Amino acid sequence: MTRVVIVGAGLSGLRVAEELRKAGFEGDVVLAGAETHLPYDRPPLSKDVIRTDKTETTLRPAEFFDDNAIELRLGSAATALDTTAKSVSFADGSQLGYDELIVATGLTPRRIGGLPELSSVHVLRSIEDALALRADLAPGKRALIVGAGFIGCELAASMRALGVEVILVEPQPTPLASVLGETVGALVERLHREEGVDVRTGTGLRTLSGDGVVSAATLDDGSEIEVDVVAIGVGSTPVTAWLDGSGVEIGNGVLCDGFGRTSAPHVWATGDVAAWQIGDARKRVEHWSNAGDQAKILAGAITGTGDPDAPAQVPYFWSDQYDVKIQALGTVSPTDTVHVIKDDGRKFVAYYEREGILAAVVGGGSAGAVMKMRAKIAAGTSITDVVESVSE
Ligand SMILES: Cc1cc2nc3c(=O)[nH]c(=O)nc-3n(C[C@H](O)[C@H](O)[C@H](O)COP(=O)(O)OP(=O)(O)OC[C@H]3O[C@@H](n4cnc5c(N)ncnc54)[C@H](O)[C@@H]3O)c2cc1C
Repeated sequence: MTRVVIVGAGLSGLRVAEELRKAGFEGDVVLAGAETHLPYDRPPLSKDVIRTDKTETTLRPAEFFDDNAIELRLGSAATALDTTAKSVSFADGSQLGYDELIVATGLTPRRIGGLPELSSVHVLRSIEDALALRADLAPGKRALIVGAGFIGCELAASMRALGVEVILVEPQPTPLASVLGETVGALVERLHREEGVDVRTGTGLRTLSGDGVVSAATLDDGSEIEVDVVAIGVGSTPVTAWLDGSGVEIGNGVLCDGFGRTSAPHVWATGDVAAWQIGDARKRVEHWSNAGDQAKILAGAITGTGDPDAPAQVPYFWSDQYDVKIQALGTVSPTDTVHVIKDDGRKFVAYYEREGILAAVVGGGSAGAVMKMRAKIAAGTSITDVVESVSE
């Protein structure tokens, strides 16, 4: 019987297992993950888990895996892949043969080199990371957040909800500038300032100090800040070291075609770790909905049930900051020309133009205005048409 082994029991690994069964795959499905938890959801880690007493975010109950004949191997970190023998090795010394192997090992947070070893300095990727950070927060504490990407901005919002004093430091000119561009970044910055965040752009973290526990930070602009807790959100890197020597081609992640096939036969990759062919580039997409979209395509390709000519999904992601849900539909690039078509001081809608076409829409607290653009983005509508239709 055909055996599919999925390495990485996060969202993407789970979604592939689900989609294989939905596609009628009757062979063995093994879902092997380094963590000891059932697959769990990460978006709440920077939101509810920080600002409420929520402590678990499991995606499916244990019975789901029995009911769908998905063999879970938790606490099993893969250490090597032999694509000739078609076998994966695990940290406990065991090995497992496969017919098809799916790499879904996600990301690991980037650290800032050269900082002293101090407690109350956090990164955020796992449930343990989130609970450890939460334990260091209380009303009136002073938190430094390094990096105003999505995780940094969401942490700032969640910490403000707890009454924590927040300093948000970002070397770029605005929060989220490298994802959404500076025009929308400035709207996000305004939101955080209104909520009492001390936003400091154009500067980064130089160093930290303290006696065992962090107590002060020095920024690149020379300013010194007293802090009780530090959260570092400066991006993440794909978890691929275990593939070293396997022959699977790695670039910015595991390089794949538009169906998730890697350079090695019978080896596929999906989710945050995978750089799929999108148009003429290989791109990694670090967003929740992408895991489901890719799993459908990949499972369809493995089982031969997929439609290779199916139109590509319009990419989507969201980020919750205070009462404002920021949503992006389409492929957003920071170099696009941005048309802000609504801005009431808190809620906004912006159209992203690339080569005269509506490439994406980004909204804050404007779900309807974002979602109704799906067909227009998919159809490659001219930006002039959509902007004119707003002003009519
Ligand atoms: C704090 C946070 C908030 C987020 N919020 C949002 C949001 O609001 N909106 C949005 O669109 N997206 C959000 N995301 C992104 C979204 O959660 C990810 O896109 C999604 O988790 C990707 O799933 P994945 O399975 O590819 O990676 P992961 O969820 O990271 O899963 C990878 C799994 O592989 C395991 N693994 C790693 N190495 C090995 C190994 N050698 N052997 C076996 N297992 C291994 C890991 O332990 C992990 O369990 C957020 C992410 C984080 C961290």
